[in-house]
Amino acid sequence: MADRYNPQEIEKKWQQQWAEDRLYETDDDDPRQKFYLLTMFPYTSGDLHIGHWYPMAPSDMYARYKRMNGFNVMHPMGFDAFGLPAENAAIKRGIHPFTWTMQNIENMRRQLKSIGAVYDWSREVITCLPGYYKWTQWFFLKLYEAGLAYREKAPVNWCPTCQTVLANEQVVGEGVCERCDTAVARRDLEQWFFRITKYADELMVHDGIDWPERIKIMQRNWVGRSEGTEISFGLDHPGVDEKEIRVFTTRPDTAFGVTFMVLAPEHPLVEKLTSPEKKAEVEAYTLKSRRQSEIERLSTEKEKDGVFTGACCINRLNGDKVPIWIADYVLVSYGTGAVMAVPAHDERDFAFAKKYGLPVPVVISPPDWDGEPLAEAYTGAGPMVNSGQFDGTPSEKGIEAVSIYLEKQGWGRRTVSYRLRDWLISRQRYWGAPIPMIYCDTCGIVPVPEKDLPVLLPEDAEFKPTGESPLKYNEGFVNTTCPRCGAPAKRETDTMDTFMCSSWYFLRYCSPQYDGAAFDEAKVKQWCPVDFYTGGAEHAVMHLLYVRFFTKAIRDMGLIDFGEPFTKLFNQGTIISGKQKMSKSRGNVVNPDDYVATLGADTVRTYLMFVGPWEQGGDWDDSGISGVSRWLNRVWNLALEDYKQHDNDGNTGKAETELTRMTHQTIKKVTQDIERIRFNTMVAALMEFSNYLHRVGEAGTVPEAAWRESVKTMLLLLAPTAPHLTEELWQKTGHDYSIHNAQWPAWDESLTEEESITLVVQVNGKLRDKLSLPVSVSEDEAKKLAAEQPKVRAHTEGKQVVKVIYVPGKLVNIVVK
Ligand SMILES: [Zn+2]
Ligand SMILES: [Zn+2]
Repeated sequence: MADRYNPQEIEKKWQQQWAEDRLYETDDDDPRQKFYLLTMFPYTSGDLHIGHWYPMAPSDMYARYKRMNGFNVMHPMGFDAFGLPAENAAIKRGIHPFTWTMQNIENMRRQLKSIGAVYDWSREVITCLPGYYKWTQWFFLKLYEAGLAYREKAPVNWCPTCQTVLANEQVVGEGVCERCDTAVARRDLEQWFFRITKYADELMVHDGIDWPERIKIMQRNWVGRSEGTEISFGLDHPGVDEKEIRVFTTRPDTAFGVTFMVLAPEHPLVEKLTSPEKKAEVEAYTLKSRRQSEIERLSTEKEKDGVFTGACCINRLNGDKVPIWIADYVLVSYGTGAVMAVPAHDERDFAFAKKYGLPVPVVISPPDWDGEPLAEAYTGAGPMVNSGQFDGTPSEKGIEAVSIYLEKQGWGRRTVSYRLRDWLISRQRYWGAPIPMIYCDTCGIVPVPEKDLPVLLPEDAEFKPTGESPLKYNEGFVNTTCPRCGAPAKRETDTMDTFMCSSWYFLRYCSPQYDGAAFDEAKVKQWCPVDFYTGGAEHAVMHLLYVRFFTKAIRDMGLIDFGEPFTKLFNQGTIISGKQKMSKSRGNVVNPDDYVATLGADTVRTYLMFVGPWEQGGDWDDSGISGVSRWLNRVWNLALEDYKQHDNDGNTGKAETELTRMTHQTIKKVTQDIERIRFNTMVAALMEFSNYLHRVGEAGTVPEAAWRESVKTMLLLLAPTAPHLTEELWQKTGHDYSIHNAQWPAWDESLTEEESITLVVQVNGKLRDKLSLPVSVSEDEAKKLAAEQPKVRAHTEGKQVVKVIYVPGKLVNIVVK
């Protein structure tokens, strides 16, 4: 009997060997075709469980598969180390975020090494180290130079618990902070923004990249492009300079039916227009709405309310005086911050008009309309009525006709509106890359000169959140001199959103130690764009949109020559446990270390691929992983057992043909499954193949050499999934180190084909058809296929099948009456 399978021993041994031999270091000078496979780098949050392995282990398998297929593969790993999770955890534990983050990195690195991944650790990037964030700051300056970074006072989402500004994308559910579930409030602050809206149109288009449809749809919805018309309503208010209010509408055909105007409570005109007697009411309402999040304000559940300002504007189309209201469902940050209300043809406006007794004139006639008041809003098409010279025009045509008229009169223009807002990147927190800007009383905003980068994050700052930037109180940091005039000046004390750090890390991996620039241009040319990017779908409208914007922006600066960072994208699902999401409070968190220590990393890896389709995820189950462990033990025994050939003359030829066919079919199936990211069925095919090889081995019906060759093929096919086990068996069965440098097996299509038989199909004993079927066809399949043939059905349809006679490999006779 051969040695027992001992994963603990062989896994450590091979990991050490591979590291010593630098087996997985990526060589820039390797002439083979490049393949850049990237997994989203993890947050250093410290909350490690098997879920963190789920994005990693299968993509490592894929990287190994590509290596064996002759590609020069780069599959790097690093850490997204700045940001709130690290800072909050550090505060909770009373240790410095740097210390805490670096401890986590050490632990995560150890774990990631224990899965035996092909990561080239010499390429590791850590975003919180000055060697990295120097270049994050450099990119900020580049964006500023290009006019893509600007500072503006803006209402922001404010989390009172985290004491920081949140991006719109970080406000979730019913307007709560995505990290701590606190209701998000509003605040005004001077903030830095990136002009992502400049790229709105280009971000809508995903040409030439292979991304999941749902991510593309989410991004397009997030950008929210709509074509419409901007209409100017006249304003003639004593003491107010503004002479118009502009609104955006996709339904200019309804503009004759406007009976009120709604401004966002924060709209700058509100203060100027509100009449003295309405002032108190308007102010109270504004205060109330500013305390609510955008999502609360836009919620369809909530009843719409508002307050009349006491002022009116003019609908230039018909000369009507239109009362101006404020309501919180209009947001100052969306569109123009003003909305024209057409209650007869908009559900929300209809409810609002009913509530406040505002008129509801019909301007698009519903079918069979009798002139009576509407019971509900009519949002469909129809002839225009009560619309002056446009009466009788079908509303679909009216959209254009009214727009053209407005343009001619100088009262409006056709335009495009977007839901997308500019990217707010200022964070009033300590643990981030300082924004490299200086404020001088004389010169204003002055960028830090490139030669002075990085602006170091001081270690001695008090980092507990106060609602203001902690760096404000660090005198050594704040006080500086103006790079332009030399006078005393102050530094910007906000730090950057960590999504800025992750917008360019894929470039840094190409030349991680390079200090002459953010990246070595030649290396980026060689490796980028990323061929295959994997990670969670939760990043659809944050990271994945920001990184596309960033890539396009620096392309336009001439820094790179491509506009899409990731050619192919794949989103993995989630591992749950006991049918529930893993969480500490549920006590169902699976720690990979425990399983690696007992069953081995190869078993954990294989189980993660077997547990379900990668894009769906699966339910972690101890009996499931035990089954995989037993299987790998059988593979071990299979490869090392003595082969006893029996003496069964005459049958060997047939058995050998079958062995060849099974082997080539398995190569084909495994290869195609990996290419299609069907890793669970790939493992299942290998299980089936090993069981077959075991049976043949027991029976001893084929020549030993042929059998051993098939076992060798199985090891090669299993190598990316279970790298340690296969390396050990490869060596023990006398092959040259390393299996991971071996060539992936190829299949011969002609050898995968089953031998076929000709099946005669009769109905009541008369020949009706002939079928060519594989020799292995089952009785049920043969009968089913026979019955389905049109020539057969012509004689059986409408009749009762009495019986079906089957002669294996020869005939099916269907008896009907
Ligand atoms: Zn929060
Ligand atoms: Zn100055």
